[in-house]
Amino acid sequence: MENKLFLYNTLTRKVGQFIPNEEGKVAMYTCGPTVYHFAHIGNLRSYIMEDLLEKTLRYIGYDVKRVMNITDVGHLSSDADTGEDKMLKGAKREHKTVLEIAEFYTNAFFSDCDKLNIKRPDVVEPATNCIAEFIHMITVLLEKGYAYESGGNIYFDTSKLDEYYVLSGQSENELLVGVRENVDEDANKKNKSDFVLWFTKSKFDAQELKWDSPWGMGYPGWHIECSCISMKHLGEYMDIHCGGVDNIFPHHTNEIAQSEAYLGHKWCNYWFHVHHLNDKLGKMSKSNGDFLTVSLLESKGYDPIVYRLFCLQSHYRKPLEFSYEVLDNMSAAYDKLIKKIGTLDKNGAIDKEKFDYYREKFESALCDDLNSSMAVTILYDMLKEEMSDATKHALAESFDKVLSLNLTTAHASREADNTIDAALERYVLDKIEERKAAKKQKDFAKADAIRSELLEKGIVLEDTREGVKWKKA
Ligand code: AMP
Ligand code: ZN
Repeated sequence: MENKLFLYNTLTRKVGQFIPNEEGKVAMYTCGPTVYHFAHIGNLRSYIMEDLLEKTLRYIGYDVKRVMNITDVGHLSSDADTGEDKMLKGAKREHKTVLEIAEFYTNAFFSDCDKLNIKRPDVVEPATNCIAEFIHMITVLLEKGYAYESGGNIYFDTSKLDEYYVLSGQSENELLVGVRENVDEDANKKNKSDFVLWFTKSKFDAQELKWDSPWGMGYPGWHIECSCISMKHLGEYMDIHCGGVDNIFPHHTNEIAQSEAYLGHKWCNYWFHVHHLNDKLGKMSKSNGDFLTVSLLESKGYDPIVYRLFCLQSHYRKPLEFSYEVLDNMSAAYDKLIKKIGTLDKNGAIDKEKFDYYREKFESALCDDLNSSMAVTILYDMLKEEMSDATKHALAESFDKVLSLNLTTAHASREADNTIDAALERYVLDKIEERKAAKKQKDFAKADAIRSELLEKGIVLEDTREGVKWKKA
């Protein structure tokens, strides 16, 4: 491993060298989506940048095991354990069961990820698979005196820790103001910052999924999921844990509290947080402003990969403001870029010296706290340099292992799509002429048969005053 990776660590509040527990191996965890609705493109910014991190680690030679949960229970409307379960809200909205909602939106999430070339983590585990693990961890926390039962729920007692706010770096008072603002007071808590590990009582008794436990029928809190699921697959020591900045408090703060109380030692060394995608109203969210999804961008004619490029052009630790104007510029730049790479003659000698020089520059940019916009600049610089087409093509192919922008394949597949479209158009126009002729000869059966034949192929004909028009169904 030649290049050392330097990353900002939320835990130390500094950029420092990333050194995993085991040489050459990385245990990585990502907080997965709450599958009650489509992911918006803000959520997907976090997953794109985490994907970039994973691919960078692999590129520089690490063997990565990445685990992600799917939150299908326990994430309440407020991250601080109040309000209705988001899954239940989704089920009511669509008159479906919670599990139907979970299945539908899990598939929708991975379909969006595929469109954005976000690799699926090695392990994906829904929370509802791990109820026994949650009950075990809560039992141990009760035995160790870190948890208590009150009003039917089990709470984590944050006063038992020397340092509860270790991750967020904010003062207790600042955070408590935040907590108070969006939370109904829960009179059962001993301390304001305590959080629920297991619910048996809530104002929303209509909770659809409940499990038996030593404390009665109930369901887990959101935070316990990630501690248990990560330990189940990655063991007691984790190298790097990821999420959006809104996860720092309370979610990740609570994860650290309960995991370290349970384990009796430090749990995760590096915390990687992606800043928010904002719109005019501030942080993009499902309840505020435009609900922008990948499908919406596609319906407006954008290639989803252009949104990935949009994200890569800015640093993951800076807020990013979404605008169609910038996306349009990005789209035009992307068209030029893939055309340039797609028309390189890849047959020929590779200049090893130039190849190594640019690969090293590219790696160094990424190893500098994932400077993705610099990595893209190096791609542009390399394409402008005097060197053989084959070297440029090989470098683009190599860079794309991390950037995942379809750099060497997009042009050819667009050309192929254009060819298919042109052939389809010719075929349909011929059929329209044939149908016209049949109608003229009053052979309506034949005319109808042609219409049906096209419909079977997904082509709809419309007889209009201006003549016959066609479209894809
Ligand atoms: P959720 O499905 O609500 O649990 O969120 C999934 C991921 O998206 C979490 O890592 C959040 O921190 C992240 N996230 C939520 N809103 C945004 C946003 N506007 N920009 C970037 N990431 C976000
Ligand atoms: Zn989590």
